[in-house]
Amino acid sequence: SRPVVCIVGRPNVGKSTLFNKLAGRRISITEDTPGITRDRIYAEGEWLNNYYTIIDTGGLDPRSDDIFMSNIRKQVQVAIDTADIILFVVDGLEGITQTDIEIANLLRKSGKPILLVVNKIDTKKELIHFYDFFELGFENINYISAEASLGIGDLLDEIIKNF
Ligand code: GDP
Ligand code: MG
Repeated sequence: SRPVVCIVGRPNVGKSTLFNKLAGRRISITEDTPGITRDRIYAEGEWLNNYYTIIDTGGLDPRSDDIFMSNIRKQVQVAIDTADIILFVVDGLEGITQTDIEIANLLRKSGKPILLVVNKIDTKKELIHFYDFFELGFENINYISAEASLGIGDLLDEIIKNF
């Protein structure tokens, strides 16, 4: 079956924007499909004849502070349980937050291949923030602008290397 690529990260970093760039067609999954919940969105994607399933786990993005970390933990657990490759998205404009550090700690224990994706690097000017993210301790670190579709091809090259 197709490799499963899961997108995780705190709210507002651009997970859904990236998902839309990596998704070819949406898989139509009805709510009564066994094992399917509304806390994630699935699509099929293809790059250079490599086919994959992409999952945006951000359906669990919390709306209030009291459920914040518990929902993020759930999101990360979904990714760890189902993914062959995890895309950990962070916000290149905001820099590293405490939540990013907590997600990084959860992901590191998973043993799954993790690609750190620094989003919102829209122009060369934002690249100065990119290097801060090496502090999170991931070897595979990529920068993109999901909104401007920059760096998506290079990211896909990295993704399929892990298939
Ligand atoms: P999610 O909550 O992680 O799914 O994030 P969204 O995809 O909904 O995006 C959150 C906000 O960030 C939206 O206002 C997007 O327009 C914006 N955004 C997403 N990608 C980029 C990007 O590459 N550059 C900039 N400047 N903004 C972005
Ligand atoms: Mg989202």
